Parts: sequence; structure tokens; C-alpha cells
Amino acid sequence: MKALAQGPALTRPLLGGPQDLFNSSRNTVGLPTIVRGEDIYIFDERGNRYLDAISGAMTAQLGQGNKRVLDAMHAQGMQHSFSYVRTTRHLPNMALTEKIARLAGPGLERVHLSSGGSEAIEMGVKFLRQYAFATGQKTRTKVISLTPSYHGGTLATIGWTGDEDSAAVWGDMAHFSTKIPAPLSYRPPGGGSSRDGALFSAEKIESAIRDLGAENVLAFIVEPVGGQSTGANVPDPDFFRLVRQVCDKYGVYVVFDEVLSACRVGTFLAAHQIEGCKPDVVVTAKGLGAGYTPMGAVLAPAKMVDHLADLTGFNLSHTYGANPISCAGACAVLDETVERGLLGNALQVGAYLRERLEAMKMRWPVVGDVRGKGLLLAIEYVRNRETKEPFSAQIFASDRIRQIGLQHGVMLYSRRQNSGRYGEWSLIAPPLIINQAQADELVDALDKSIMQFTNEMTRAGELQ
Ligand code: PMP
Repeated sequence: MKALAQGPALTRPLLGGPQDLFNSSRNTVGLPTIVRGEDIYIFDERGNRYLDAISGAMTAQLGQGNKRVLDAMHAQGMQHSFSYVRTTRHLPNMALTEKIARLAGPGLERVHLSSGGSEAIEMGVKFLRQYAFATGQKTRTKVISLTPSYHGGTLATIGWTGDEDSAAVWGDMAHFSTKIPAPLSYRPPGGGSSRDGALFSAEKIESAIRDLGAENVLAFIVEPVGGQSTGANVPDPDFFRLVRQVCDKYGVYVVFDEVLSACRVGTFLAAHQIEGCKPDVVVTAKGLGAGYTPMGAVLAPAKMVDHLADLTGFNLSHTYGANPISCAGACAVLDETVERGLLGNALQVGAYLRERLEAMKMRWPVVGDVRGKGLLLAIEYVRNRETKEPFSAQIFASDRIRQIGLQHGVMLYSRRQNSGRYGEWSLIAPPLIINQAQADELVDALDKSIMQFTNEMTRAGELQ
């Protein structure tokens, strides 16, 4: 491995500058400036190569420079660049929604397109609210969600995201949902097994609905497989069965936030692997545009959409929603995903990757847990494996490992969601095109990074 040619610290330019100037300067030291990408690798201006273990932000499913997607967007732009979906119809819109609905299966026949995850989550919940309003359920406005969870960065989705710290910042600017402890498999709420935690969590949903008054509750929103906020948490299957039972009992809609999980877990939707809980609405984004174009989608039953259209309609839209070039790009992304068998690859290489991560866990006590599904995996870091005690905020283990990873040619991502109260981890979510040799390369680089981190912590007296 070639030694990393470190760039100088960023001097703040007089004008403009990279987006990270807005972020905490503590966590942006030494961010590489990427000038090129190829396959699952990105290259910085100094010639360093990084294997993208996290698909940018769990997004770049097809890796870099996919010609079919880029050609489709170019061709669409030359043919017809833009017209507004409130005043015109266009073919790429229809082609994309048909492809998505076909992949999603019965009960999710209609697709509303927008420009990303947060926007689509908001649209999904607003659609349900409008439906409830138009069908005489006028008091249903309350949303229930999990802590921890992540649903986006707009004011509405900040309110639904389960992060205890955000109330202090946003106060009454955001409208906070009622939060239920997430059914974390490694740190089950209420203690006991993963299943005990799931039952505990499901019971809390029922008591929350009763406390709020069932007639006031609109929806329960949940990530079927967790993302960055829980480190790929896979709830016990009984959790979803109970969620559906409870929500049916009180007439509460179930929304699956599949912004991150769609395609990654080996099926188009994670919902396809969950028994006993068919969601009313599913939202997806990230991998749909695969980094080539902003794209988000709300998937809803035709019977609800068509019924509402005959009443008031759902009349919200954004300028770039379902724009032709993005639709053409997303169509090509889905065609590539299906025709190249990438859902199967996510299962196959995902299983191999997981096996190798499990073996790595045996070597390094700082790895407390390996979990996830398909190519949506995570490794959780602990100071003490017996007690599951995390590292302190000063150490910020996952970010230190991200920085060390750069020296070993692997791009990781860290965020200490909820101030690390539920632990910290690295998500391992490479592009769906990854092959087994590249999975080996990923794990080898991670292994070296964790070894270096372990040595540092031992020298600092943090580990025995
Ligand atoms: N929901 C989940 C589960 C996510 O992971 C994200 C993005 N990390 C969002 C919603 C918000 O998506 P976006 O960043 O595209 O607005």
C-alpha cells in the first residue's frame, strides 16, 4: 500500500469553498478532494485511491461512470430537457413509475417522484394526511417514530427523526413526533434478547397510540432495516408482525422508510422480506438515482391514490419532481440493477462480506457486533466487549477509524448519531457491483485500520 500523500489543511477561501465548510471543523480535517471515479473507487487530487465502502452516502449503487445511465440522461436531455409535471405529461415519468411499481409488487401501484429522501418522506406522510383529511379522519395528524432513527433533514423530518439532541436546537420550529425506543438487536430496549426488545418496543407503540388518542394518530414510520442511525439494525421479525396488528387495530398507517434499504438487502424492497406487515406506503430515494441524479419516490396503493384524486387530490409538488432527465437516469439505474442481477449480487457478496467481517470480529475485541442484511451491513465499536461500553465522545472511535481508513485506501463514513448514546459503528454499504475480490480488499483495509486503531487505544491506556 502506497503511503497516503496528505494534503495541506484547508485554508478557508475568500469566496465559496467546499460544502463541508458549513460542518463542524473538527470532523472535516483532511477530507480528500476527489477528482475522478472508476468502478467502486474514487481518486483524490494527489493520486490516492479509495475503495468506496459506503457508496458515497449509501447511494452510488452502480459505482462511478456508468455509461448506460449517463448516456440515457444525455439522450433524454437532447430530446426533451424539461417541462413541468403540473402542466405537461412526459414518457420518462411514466416509464419510471411503471418500472418501480412492477418491482414493488401488488399494493404499491402508484409512484410520486421527488428530489430526494427527506422530500419524499414528507410527501409520503403528507399524502396520508391529505387522504385522512379527505376521507373524514380530520383529527389524524400525529406521527409516531423510533429513537434512534433517521428520516431526513427538513424541519418536518427532523421532527420525526429520533434524535434526543435536536429538540434543544430546533425547539418549536420543528413538530416532534412521539418517540418509541427502537427495537435494537444489540442493545434491546428494556434488556433481554433481541426479541424481548422487539416486544417491548411494539408494546410502547400501542400505549403511545392510546395516550395520544387513536383518532389523532396518522402514521407510524419505521426503517425496516436501519441505516446510519442504528447501524443497520435488523429488528426481530415479530416486531413488524406486532406493528401491523397494533396499527390495524387503531387505523394507523404504516410507512416504511426505505430511502436507504431499497435494493441493498437483496430484494427491491426490504418490505419483500418482512412477513406479517405490509406497509401502507413505502418511501425510497438514494439508490434510485444511484448518485447520478437526485431522485426520491413515494410508493402508494392505487386504491388510495385514485380515491383521493376523485376527492380533493394530493396537490403538492416541487419544481424538479419527476423531471425528465432524472427519470431517464433512474430508469437506466433500475435496468442496470435488474439486468446485471445486482439484487442477487447484494445477497451473494453481502453474505461473503459478512462472513469475513464476523471473522474480523473474532480478531479485534473493539468490534462488538456485526449485523445487517445483504450489502447493508455495520460493525459496532466498543471499548469493552463484555459490557458493550462504547468509546468516549473525545475518542469518537468511528471517525478515528474513518480517518485511519483513508491511509489504507478505504472510504468509510461516521456520524455519532444521538451523541453516541446507542453506540457507534461504521456502515459497510459498498456499491452493488462489488465483487468478491473487492470485498476481500475492503475487509483487508478495514482490518488494518482497526488494528491501527486498537494499537493507538492500547498505547493511550484505553484498552487492556
Ligand atoms: N431516511 C433515511 C433512512 C436515510 O438514510 C436518509 C438519508 N441518509 C433520509 C431519510 C433522508 O434522505 P436525503 O438525505 O436524501 O434527504
